[in-house]
Amino acid sequence: MLKDKVAFITGASRGIGNAIATVLAKSGADIAGIDLNIDELKSAMKRVEDTTGRRVITVQADVGDSGSVERAVEEAIKVFGRIDILVNNAGITRDNIVLRMKDDEWDRVIRTNLTGTYHCTKAVIRGMIKNRRGRIISIASVVGVMGNAGQANYAASKAGIIGFTKSVAREYANRGITANAIAPGFIETDMTKVLTEEVRNTLISQIPMGRLGSPEDIANVVEFLASDEATYITGQVIHVNGGMYM
Ligand code: NAP
Repeated sequence: MLKDKVAFITGASRGIGNAIATVLAKSGADIAGIDLNIDELKSAMKRVEDTTGRRVITVQADVGDSGSVERAVEEAIKVFGRIDILVNNAGITRDNIVLRMKDDEWDRVIRTNLTGTYHCTKAVIRGMIKNRRGRIISIASVVGVMGNAGQANYAASKAGIIGFTKSVAREYANRGITANAIAPGFIETDMTKVLTEEVRNTLISQIPMGRLGSPEDIANVVEFLASDEATYITGQVIHVNGGMYM
């Protein structure tokens, strides 16, 4: 499906980003894995390389820092010649109710999740315009659509990604570039491991399928959106949530 395509994936060390790297590589793509922690990233990407036989590079970068993102994109283009697929996956939470939220909690979440998506998109788009082809896939959240008490910063960042995605889709549709967002529900990763048993059970009671999703549930949708089969899909939010929001 993605034979010889080049994918640039942020937050590739763990959770959903790691599943995306594995699924896209299995589908034939070469991978530039980006993350903050280079040691963790290297061992995670080595597993992807060993299991898929694709070319994989690792670049340490903070998506919240434009210079660091530009250097990572340059490095990937130096090795692979181009980037066909950008997956904006890196994301963090710093939960608090608005009344108690610290400016730093607000700023960090917006900078990583939303500004990070902007930095990476801006850094890859010129090359995609030149190639008259590109896929930008950003991981939003059901929380960006429904809101969530205690996550105003996170919800705002994810709603921002949706507005950003639709604008990018409109700006570059006539250059062969699509931009879509995936809004996962609750997925089994380190991010949701911190939930108490009580919160987890309450969440599950709101999911018609009665379980959290797996990282592969999201990665499979990324694979489809990145493929030639999805050429006519742009500016969309694909909900992957076991029926939690419909
Ligand atoms: P995760 O397990 O916490 O992994 C997030 C990854 O992003 C980590 O590898 C982390 O690196 C990296 N990262 C964080 N800040 C970064 C930065 N500034 N620059 C580069 N990399 C950075 O999270 P996940 O659950 O897989 O979530 C992945 C994405 O899906 C996020 O955007 C999240 O908001 C979204 N999402 C998750 C869920 C869910 O239920 N899990 C639901 C909806 C949406 P370090 O290891 O160095 O911290």
